[in-house]
Amino acid sequence: MKITVIGTGYVGLVTGACLADSGNHVVCVDIDQAKIDALTRGEIPIYEPGLRELVDRNRGAGRLSFTTEAAAAVSASRLVFLAVGTPPLEDGSADVKYLVRAVEDISGHLPQQSIVVIKSTVPVGTNAKITGRLKELTGRDCHVCSNPEFLKEGAAIDDFLKPDRVVVGTRDRDVANVMRTLYAPYLRTEKPLLVMSPESSEMVKYAANAMLATKISFINEIANLCQRTAADVDDVRRGIGHDSRIGFAFLFPGVGYGGSCFPKDVRALVATARGLGIEPRLLTAVDEVNTRQKTVLLEKIRRQCGEDLRGKVLAIWGLSFKPRTDDVREAPALALIDQLLESGATIRAHDPEAMENVRKLYGDRLSYFQDQYDALDGVDALVLMTEWKEFVHPDFDAMRSRMRAAVVFDGRNVYSPDTMREAGFTYHSIGRASVMPR
Ligand code: NAD
Repeated sequence: MKITVIGTGYVGLVTGACLADSGNHVVCVDIDQAKIDALTRGEIPIYEPGLRELVDRNRGAGRLSFTTEAAAAVSASRLVFLAVGTPPLEDGSADVKYLVRAVEDISGHLPQQSIVVIKSTVPVGTNAKITGRLKELTGRDCHVCSNPEFLKEGAAIDDFLKPDRVVVGTRDRDVANVMRTLYAPYLRTEKPLLVMSPESSEMVKYAANAMLATKISFINEIANLCQRTAADVDDVRRGIGHDSRIGFAFLFPGVGYGGSCFPKDVRALVATARGLGIEPRLLTAVDEVNTRQKTVLLEKIRRQCGEDLRGKVLAIWGLSFKPRTDDVREAPALALIDQLLESGATIRAHDPEAMENVRKLYGDRLSYFQDQYDALDGVDALVLMTEWKEFVHPDFDAMRSRMRAAVVFDGRNVYSPDTMREAGFTYHSIGRASVMPR
């Protein structure tokens, strides 16, 4: 099939590359000329494991190309995916202006039989809104189908190629069949393609993210309770996770969720509810617990190092909102950096992939180290903010020898308290007792 993907960000680029990989001819469009130039030169503007190989292979085979010219791409396409951003407005609701603008750009060039597929995360009613706008612009009924994306950054390609399910929002049987044909190569293990109304499919995406965010805020709240008692959240997590009704997924205590989806989507759903005259108490609490969770480590740091952090030097390992991505949008590490800088601390930062994105935000207000151990020279403590694999089994002797004080704040409960005590560290984690070196 001939396909255009509009918006070549995390979702659009992965979608385009994966669809090309099953033989489709895909043109990825973006308004960001620098991004398209880079892609055309063979550079990948984001870090996502496996993406470079996938893009190179399909570009080489002539199935994947990049342009800023939406009109030409769309005019030859059966399917036009919209994967532009839907950032939050002041009140938390999703701003669909980029989506509307994209539709206005392409409306004059859409072939009669083409299907517009909304992949961006959009509020309930957006499909109807886009359908209406297209009718105004073209004078005809255009096919607009909803197809929310559930990929996780860091495992995006695997998620796209092996989805748990594909959701398609349409009332048109022919459109559903085209989508079934498109997704057939990725559903060979009998995972379902669920066809429903556009409104339901729009709600599915928000409900899924709200549920996952709720699990994270839930375990963080339990962790904070454990912290004030002799309970250990890791034992509690195991004790509940083995209950098949509960499970282990998304039940890891930490410094709160971040990224470009959970915070924004929970708030957008709150805004949707309020717009309907409903006060969504659970969702509001999920967001509040998460915002509060991003301050938990600072409180521990202050208790250990003193209220006034001027003159204190702290290393941070991990800046991205989760491992295996360079995405720092709403990353808990950024909230901590703001708090530490405000308290007068000096920060030495390391991340395997996200340092350039953080440098764009903070410039030389932090120092950055390619080597994780170099970041530790002379520090009063290390703060671990993202559970990258390379942090899991570090050389503890090398760490201690470079740090001014052997103190670790672990925002992801990566280490065992016993191991850290044996290794000679004062160790603070989330929802577990702090330990002193033996
Ligand atoms: P992104 O910011 O990485 O990419 C969006 C891209 O769209 C940018 O490159 C931007 O330049 C481009 N763009 C904006 N207007 C355009 C236009 N008129 N024409 C062409 N290009 C245009 O965003 P993302 O993270 O890929 O997210 C895209 C959507 O998918 C959002 O609605 C998001 O909520 C949703 N989503 C994201 C993820 C994720 O993990 N990032 C997962 C599932 C769903």
